[in-house]
Amino acid sequence: MYAVLTDDPDLARAGIGDRSYHFVEYVDGSRNEPIEDPNVVHSVACWGDTETVEAEPDRAAVAADGTRATATGEGGWGTVCPTDPDYRDGVLERIEELEGDVRLTTLGFPGEAYCQCKRCDRRFADAESDDRTAWRTTVVTDFVAAVARRVDGDLLATAYPDPYPGQLEQRAGIDLAALSAFVDGVLVPLCSPGYETSYWVESIARGFDATLRELETDVELAIQLSGARIEPDRLAEVTRTVEPYADEIVYGTYPDDAETVRETIELLREQAAVPG
Ligand SMILES: [Zn+2]
Repeated sequence: MYAVLTDDPDLARAGIGDRSYHFVEYVDGSRNEPIEDPNVVHSVACWGDTETVEAEPDRAAVAADGTRATATGEGGWGTVCPTDPDYRDGVLERIEELEGDVRLTTLGFPGEAYCQCKRCDRRFADAESDDRTAWRTTVVTDFVAAVARRVDGDLLATAYPDPYPGQLEQRAGIDLAALSAFVDGVLVPLCSPGYETSYWVESIARGFDATLRELETDVELAIQLSGARIEPDRLAEVTRTVEPYADEIVYGTYPDDAETVRETIELLREQAAVPG
């Protein structure tokens, strides 16, 4: 299955792939009107919200040394503390209003060092666990469970592209085994405009496929590729290296790249139709 991911409503409706992912809430804090269409997946940023973090710095996730998760940091966007109760409620309320399939982005803590704000310290101290990594995964899993109760279609979680055992838990608080009870798919972004090299794309996709197989779950794997600065035959070539592992390929697509992505999908479908 092929899909495009875009913040452009016309492109989302253009029928380029089998379905479209459309940004309803983006990491910069912007929001778009949801498109009501069964072939559109609503993409919602959970805690990535540069606008909120810039307007209210105290709401940012914070490391022990006081570093706040702002847009100038590694991620390139600001991240609100995942235990901020009002923010969490707001995200859940907006998700409840959406109809159909939902993909969560910026799920989890913005890095291993986060969050050590006073509220998180207090909650961890009150928790049953004395393992902070385990406590963080509980925060994220409980949130995804709450989302799942509000989504009437499929639910997909975006995972940081690190399939090494234990790393997603340490980095973000994402425990795929625990999440598999609540999500229908995991989406892994492997974006690099142009793909001068692509061996890593295959390696990481393979790693996630192996992880999901080990979990013996029905959770599907979607791989996100970049449609920018590349020729269709090269993008088709990169796609073919991950197709053995992925149930869906999602192309990040700007309006300028729409033709490239359309041609890539046509090429792939033609090749798949050739017998033998
Ligand atoms: Zn916190």
